[in-house]
Amino acid sequence: MSSSEPSFLLYDVVEMKRPHPCKDRGRLFQIVRLGADVKITCLSCGRTIMLDRGHFDERVKRKVSSPGAPIKTK
Ligand SMILES: [Zn+2]
Repeated sequence: MSSSEPSFLLYDVVEMKRPHPCKDRGRLFQIVRLGADVKITCLSCGRTIMLDRGHFDERVKRKVSSPGAPIKTK
């Protein structure tokens, strides 16, 4: 862990390294729970995935935006 690592806030939109295996192959997810476990919702299909914090840190590519509120998905 380095000091240049981005810190994430609840409801941040992030791009993941690997696309979600859904129809749209979405890479953008919104953080809907942030703790020891991180829950992210795919902005393409609306499905939620739970990762432990270590897995999340490994798989996240970058922060896209900080909307500060839930985004409505399909
Ligand atoms: Zn998806």
